[in-house]
Amino acid sequence: MSIKGKIALVTGAGQGIGRAITLRLARDGADIALADLNDDLMKGVADEVRALGRKATVIKTDVTDRDAVYAAVDQAETDLGGFDIMVNNAGIAQVKALDEVMPEDMVDIYRVNVDGVLWGIQAAARKFRARKQTGKIINAASIAGHDGFEMLGVYSSTKFAVRGLTQAAAKEYAAHGITVNAYCPGIVGTDMWVEIDQRFADITGAAVGETFKKYVDGIALGRAQTPEDVAAFVSFLAGPDSDYMTGQAPLIDGGLVYR
Ligand code: NAD
Repeated sequence: MSIKGKIALVTGAGQGIGRAITLRLARDGADIALADLNDDLMKGVADEVRALGRKATVIKTDVTDRDAVYAAVDQAETDLGGFDIMVNNAGIAQVKALDEVMPEDMVDIYRVNVDGVLWGIQAAARKFRARKQTGKIINAASIAGHDGFEMLGVYSSTKFAVRGLTQAAAKEYAAHGITVNAYCPGIVGTDMWVEIDQRFADITGAAVGETFKKYVDGIALGRAQTPEDVAAFVSFLAGPDSDYMTGQAPLIDGGLVYR
């Protein structure tokens, strides 16, 4: 219960890894502001948070909209009575050979995966400073932020960018007692991987499920990652045991990419 009574905002909280992070931080004792494009999904997760005995507020947010992200942070503070932890989790995938990438393919994915993380960093840091308190900012990177993956080149580049922002933000905000770290999951069984696997099937002719299996077969611990595996590490990044850590983007992937 090391973060008991803290207030956390999680983007992309409606499903997958964001849902698992939301429920884990609630189990750890935090109250949660959920921010996502999808209201219905968030309402279901918010009910699960309340069933754990914690407060939840649902804030429909598009992370590509800087004003909306700032407003979400304000609303989290108003509705829940404080603001301590920002998890910039929302992200989207893209499967495309580099040869095929057109200018328009660069827009949406960068707006969500990179701009959205930057707006979240800015808005949270500004709020922590206005409240004259310390805070934790936690960003979604990936194994694809450490290795460039074939057919996932643009996606990989966005996750390398998240690591760059994480390092720079850690340096800029350290004097204010704000830490900034990232988490780098591997092959997690969420809707994102259903989409990636289907796109590989469409493009390469692989059978549905084959690409997911190929990657999972390369994991030393011998199984796909669960959203809860990721959430356990985010719990550490959100809590006091990571107080002396900043600017880092550790891999949590069951043994797939080694650094
Ligand atoms: P997911 O597709 O299952 O869920 C993503 C959530 O983000 C959805 O609820 C969606 O509505 C929301 N979202 C998308 N665009 C948004 C926007 N503009 N504004 C607000 N919310 C938005 O994905 P996931 O697998 O849970 O991935 C979560 C994060 O973890 C992403 O940043 C992803 O890149 C990263 N990641 C995932 C994996 C994996 O294997 N699934 C591996 C490494 C990193």
